[in-house]
Parts: sequence; C-alpha cells; structure tokens
Amino acid sequence: MQTVRSTVSMASWELCRWSNHQLFAVVLSVLLSGCQKAADIDPTSESDNAQRIKVLATVGMVADLVKQIGGEHTNVQQLMGPGVDPHLYKATRDDMQQIMLADIVFSSGLMLEGRLEDTLNKVGEKRPVFAITSRLPPEMLLSPDSAGGHPDPHVWMDVAAWSSCIDVIEDALSGHDAAHAADFKANAVPLRTQLRALHEYGLSSIASIPQSNRILVTSHDAFSYFGRAYGLEVVGVQGLSTESEAGLQRINELVDLLVERKVAAVFVESSVPQKNMLALIDGAKSRGHDVRVGGELFSDAMGAEGSYEGTYVGMLDHNITTVARALGGSVPAGGLLEKLAAVKERP
Ligand SMILES: [Zn+2]
Repeated sequence: MQTVRSTVSMASWELCRWSNHQLFAVVLSVLLSGCQKAADIDPTSESDNAQRIKVLATVGMVADLVKQIGGEHTNVQQLMGPGVDPHLYKATRDDMQQIMLADIVFSSGLMLEGRLEDTLNKVGEKRPVFAITSRLPPEMLLSPDSAGGHPDPHVWMDVAAWSSCIDVIEDALSGHDAAHAADFKANAVPLRTQLRALHEYGLSSIASIPQSNRILVTSHDAFSYFGRAYGLEVVGVQGLSTESEAGLQRINELVDLLVERKVAAVFVESSVPQKNMLALIDGAKSRGHDVRVGGELFSDAMGAEGSYEGTYVGMLDHNITTVARALGGSVPAGGLLEKLAAVKERP
C-alpha cells in the first residue's frame, strides 16, 4: 500500500534506551525522597477528591478514555499536553514524581512513549501500570517491515481498534476500586456507542472521496491505521517515529508521487514541525504542480484543552472531516456533531 517508506533509525531506538537508564536513576531518587510532595498531584484538599483514584495517563487520547470511564471516581492527570510529540517526550523530575505517586498509570504502549517505555516497565514492577493497547490481538496490529517488525503504535487512528482498548481501563479501575466497578462498566456503555458512531462516520466520510483522490500524505507515519480502517492510501514523509529524519531523497520521491498522481492536498500535523511538508509543496510547485495544505491533523496529540478538538472524539472527527473535505469528499462542515470550529470556518 505505501509506496516508499523511510526506515526507523535503529540508532535512535538505542539512544532512547540509554537515556531511559538515566531516567530510572531519577525514579529511584524520587522513591528515596519519599512522598513529601504528594500535594503536587492533588492540589485540592477536598475530602471527596482525596477518595478519588489518582490516575496518570501519558497522552490525551488515553486520558480522555480514562476520564470518561472513571468519571467522578478518578482524578486524571495527563503527562503530555496538546502539541507534544510522545515519540520525543522525555520525563522531567516533576513527571517522575507524578508517575510514582499515581495509584494507576495508563500509557498507550507499543513504544509510542519511546523514551518513557523502560521507566514505565520498571515502575510497573511495583505499581499498576497498564498499556491500554496491551490486549489487542496481533492481527489487529500493523507491523511494517520498515520498523523491523515492531508494531505501529498509532492505534487510536482506528476508532474501532481504540474502542476495544476500553476493556483494559475498565478492568484496571475495577481491580483497584471494586466498590465502583458497576459505575465503570456503566460509563463504558455510552462511550462505546459514541465511538461506534464515530467509526461509522469515518467509513462513510472517506468513502465519499472520489477513489483516485484517496491518498493521504502527512508528516510522519501516524495514519496507517486510519488508512486501513477507512480506506485510504497513506504516505508519511518521516517513519513511524519522528525520531528518524526524512532525507532529501525521500522528499524527492514524494514530490514525484505528488506530481504523477496529481495529489491536490497534503496535511500537516499539530505535533510535528511543518518544514518537510513545505519542502514537498515547493518541490511540486517547481515542477508545475500546485499542492495545497489540506489542513492540520491531530496525529499524536489532541487539540487545545477545553475545546472539542481537545477530546478524542473531537480529534478524530476533525481528522476525518478535514481529510474528506480537502480530498473532495462530501461531509458536513461541522463534522459528525456539528462542533468543529476550524473546519466550519473554512469556505
Ligand atoms: Zn507518531
């Protein structure tokens, strides 16, 4: 399906592991320094707040699911905010305290949080740490050759696959707080229903794009699950992780592709610098083919906190609607729920 892919730099994975040893030293020092900074994670002194399960989630897409399932019984902290690239994210000393003081830690997993992975594994020997993708059957995962057979971590791009990660959260919260297990189970029901509607919206929206236009060119390989789920050919300039830099040869190959296939639009990502995409546009222009930026997609981080795009449903609704509209599909300007500000404003 993908024509050419850049390879994930194995050297950068090695570098990652090395820096995680340093991180673990910080974890140990936090452990030894005790819990005197417990107030940092739970700044309020309300008694009902103190009863809540202290949850730490790495990325917004995970935090959002946990908040909806945990509801009033959880106090969810999120490590990485809008626009933060989880592939490159390194934990600070404060982050390490948050990790160590949480009752439960949820990550996305599959090496998405590359520079935190070893730390989370080690913390997981003593505390409950769950990668929510951990129970997905292997046949649901994509493992491109370019990543040395390692699974592609960007599972949230397939709403149906992400929805099947809800079980891990439900079980983990119920295991910690059995008294509220019925609430967690009940909260998961409308969430699954909502995600099913979103998945179906993705299917119909992408199917409305003329067949020859169904090609999605983005900054890095975050959209393979999106492409598989909704029927698009996906091409990323960088590899699975943003740690691998795209070379000039890769840029030239993609310029050829844009010109030959008459691709009308490419997409930038909120958590990845835009320089490669601008190089593609300039390259195509110099060969007489105008390509425009079809919009900014949320790949590895959600939109602004408090906005619709700052929720998992809003993030995917934005991506589906933006891609469909830019490539000639017919979808409602405001998206599935008529809540998309950015897409709505467009002519
Ligand atoms: Zn990514």
